[in-house]
Amino acid sequence: MLVTSDLREREETASARWSRFHPIVTGEDYLDSLRNRDIDLYLFGELVENPVDHPIIRPSMNALKATYDLATEDPELATAESPLIGRRVNRFLHLVESAQDIVMKNRMQRRLGQITGTCFQRCAGLDTISVLHSITYEIDQKHGTSYHDRYIEFMKLAQANNIIIGAGMTDPKGDRSKRPSEQDDPDLFMHVTRRTDTGLYVTGAKAHMTGGFNSHWICVMPTMNLSETDRDYAVVGLVPADAAGLTYIYGRQSCDMRAMESGDVDKGNAKFGGQEALVVFDNVFIPWEHVLMDGEYEFAQEMVARFTAYHRASYVCKTGLGDVLIGAAATVAEYNGVENASHIKDKLVEMTHLNETIYSSAIASSYEAKPLASGIYMNDAMLANVCKQNVTRFPYELSRLAQDIAGGLMVTLPSQQDFENEVTGPLLKKYLKGRSNVPVEHRARLLRLIENMTLGRNAVGYLTESMHGAGSPQAQRIHIHRIMNIEKKKGYAKGLAGVSAHASAEKK
Ligand code: SF4
Ligand code: FE
Repeated sequence: MLVTSDLREREETASARWSRFHPIVTGEDYLDSLRNRDIDLYLFGELVENPVDHPIIRPSMNALKATYDLATEDPELATAESPLIGRRVNRFLHLVESAQDIVMKNRMQRRLGQITGTCFQRCAGLDTISVLHSITYEIDQKHGTSYHDRYIEFMKLAQANNIIIGAGMTDPKGDRSKRPSEQDDPDLFMHVTRRTDTGLYVTGAKAHMTGGFNSHWICVMPTMNLSETDRDYAVVGLVPADAAGLTYIYGRQSCDMRAMESGDVDKGNAKFGGQEALVVFDNVFIPWEHVLMDGEYEFAQEMVARFTAYHRASYVCKTGLGDVLIGAAATVAEYNGVENASHIKDKLVEMTHLNETIYSSAIASSYEAKPLASGIYMNDAMLANVCKQNVTRFPYELSRLAQDIAGGLMVTLPSQQDFENEVTGPLLKKYLKGRSNVPVEHRARLLRLIENMTLGRNAVGYLTESMHGAGSPQAQRIHIHRIMNIEKKKGYAKGLAGVSAHASAEKK
């Protein structure tokens, strides 16, 4: 138990916190920014000494590095002019001020999916800052608070330093039949433990935090609607990733030990991977300048609804992964000499149709964006939920078709070491040959990539994250039910059928 004097030592000012950050320009600067941080990160029951060079962790950092590299290589796509600081900033830190900004966000997300073949971990933070613009404004309008100014000041520094903001949204939730304030253990939802003249303290945990450790700051926010008894749970705050009281516990992923092996063939995608972590907050201090909600519980539901509208369309990222998978399946078919078979062509058409159906719902949602009271734009919630519902299903069918085209060799292929062995290597190169002009290794690499995306490490990003990220499938169905306006639709039908309200009353 920490005594008050220990806690006081955590009370850093906002400027002291910012002083630890230096502007990031290149992808290499980003990797350097993650070195030598004083952070407790556990993986396989041990504190990790050098996370940046850890073979399991580094691919997840490379995926975020790609968001910086793309800003240099394609500034039109991955940067935008920021009125806050009067220069171009990374699009992941840009406030969406038009429908076109959200469309461009989606295009960038698809491109990064094509580049990385996995989750590049930066979109939940982007969607969070979009939500906070409008929510802080609306809380201030109602309560006379000054959250919006604090938010703007933070965003200016965030843009100038080109940092990554992680979204700490999902609480562990404990007994789902109980509200936050009813839980036997109050820490199962993040809550305020004390308030002082300089700020407040929070305790709790944020689960499945995408890219949590790879971020520079974490924005904590409520995970669900709250009532008056949950007032201490209605907290939004900005926390540096190395704040005192934080512990990171790295999530295991399928086939993660392949990253520890020598050679890159069996890894399938040796360069890029995702990251999820459980981040525990033990009395973490947040100075008032970085508190953006404290007790205004009635805004929690709308905040979550707006976040999900943004983030469920951000799952357009998976169309970039779909492009990779379709390309891998088509290449394997070519290496096998079956690219002209009509059923192969048909399967590739089906895969493309599914992938573009996801894209169409996301991009339509963004084109339908409307301004909120603060001036920021929000994409259409119905189409965003339809997009995410598509994403919970179609990547599974795309994966089934890719595995169908790949054939069983994808899961019976011997290891890279067997290919390199002087006895087995020549045998494998003879008997696993497809088209004579294609090296066997190329065939193996493509098969391993499909394995990686549909069964291995990046199946986390392509499949299970598609299922549960931004809310599990039922969450979208509940939202669709809430906004599908069935009465209006019944009215259309009754009007055409000649069943007026008056006529039906008469018949009774
Ligand atoms: Fe971005 Fe997609 Fe990863 Fe979410 S799942 S952070 S939208 S890449
Ligand atoms: Fe996500």
